Amino acid sequence: MTEEYEVVVVGGGAAGLSAALVLGRARRRTLVVDAGEPRNAPAAHMQGYLSRDGMPPAEFLAVGREEIARYGVELVRDRAVDAVRDADGFDVTLASGRTARARRLVVATGLKDELPTIPGVAERFGRDVVHCPYCHGWEVRDQAFGVLATSAQSVHQALLVSHWSKDVTLFLHDLGEDRLSDEESRRLAAAGVRIVPGVVAGLVVEDDRLTGVRLADGSTHARSVVFVAPRFVPRTQLLERLGAEVRETPFGTAPVVDETGRTTVPGVWAVGNATLVTQQVVNSAAGGGLAAATLNNELVFEDLDAGPQAGARV
Ligand SMILES: Cc1cc2nc3c(=O)[nH]c(=O)nc-3n(C[C@H](O)[C@H](O)[C@H](O)COP(=O)(O)OP(=O)(O)OC[C@H]3O[C@@H](n4cnc5c(N)ncnc54)[C@H](O)[C@@H]3O)c2cc1C
Repeated sequence: MTEEYEVVVVGGGAAGLSAALVLGRARRRTLVVDAGEPRNAPAAHMQGYLSRDGMPPAEFLAVGREEIARYGVELVRDRAVDAVRDADGFDVTLASGRTARARRLVVATGLKDELPTIPGVAERFGRDVVHCPYCHGWEVRDQAFGVLATSAQSVHQALLVSHWSKDVTLFLHDLGEDRLSDEESRRLAAAGVRIVPGVVAGLVVEDDRLTGVRLADGSTHARSVVFVAPRFVPRTQLLERLGAEVRETPFGTAPVVDETGRTTVPGVWAVGNATLVTQQVVNSAAGGGLAAATLNNELVFEDLDAGPQAGARV
């Protein structure tokens, strides 16, 4: 049996819940489908969100779920596996077999961080292996940083994080020394970043604490924090299935959206990390709110233009 909604929001992280809050308060019958794997789940604290700085990510989402429930928004723990558009709206199929129909769709599915396959990295990610100085930099300031050069962005990352600690070592790993440009070498020297050639074989962990980086030649280098550059993979499968236009960015593929999150598919909005990998929690929440207000506005005027019977609340 297909249930009818005005809006289905796929993804119940900061972006999706924020959209749902605005939609609930706008009296829209809304379903949030959430698979329950928010990106920052490995981190104990969420930093940099004014008034929520340091709050555990799980607590932030629990508060958000309580808030949307107050306005009658329904949330299910499930995964949207397909979405099909016709002239009147969308049919969304969930992994459980349930189907939901809606006039508008908000895709807030976030992204997946694909980590370098160096032993220890995935296990410690979000703790003492981190990717973002704005999320973790203050907490690890002045410690012994290592930066694993696994991507084209790694030199930039080493230079950036040297602002948080003067003790930074760049492990070249699969980036040969000869691949550093003159400008990069000059900047690394100016920042006092040490350069260690050689392949990284793994991390040294003692008493559940990172203590070093081990190279393939057997040498170890004492470090208490390691920065990595994941490959960011926005979850755009549903959008692509609906025929949304995507574009290549320096960080990978992203859907084409306007400033409100409207995609190239009529009736479909995309928000949060699914659209832009650099969005923090606060930006993702803001984007969700703006998309919701914009699509609500569109529904109000669509119903007014369709005549007095249209848009009767379902
Ligand atoms: C380790 C780490 C620490 C971080 N720390 C901070 C920090 O301190 N401060 C900060 O501002 N930012 C931080 N971030 C960034 C932050 O995680 C993102 O900005 C934020 O999660 C983006 O919100 P979102 O709603 O777009 O995506 P998410 O929070 O990832 O939520 C997406 C949700 O959609 C669900 N989903 C995906 N596909 C489907 C589907 N098909 N059907 C149903 N549900 C689906 C997922 O399971 C998930 O619950 C950190 C990131 C990482 C990796």
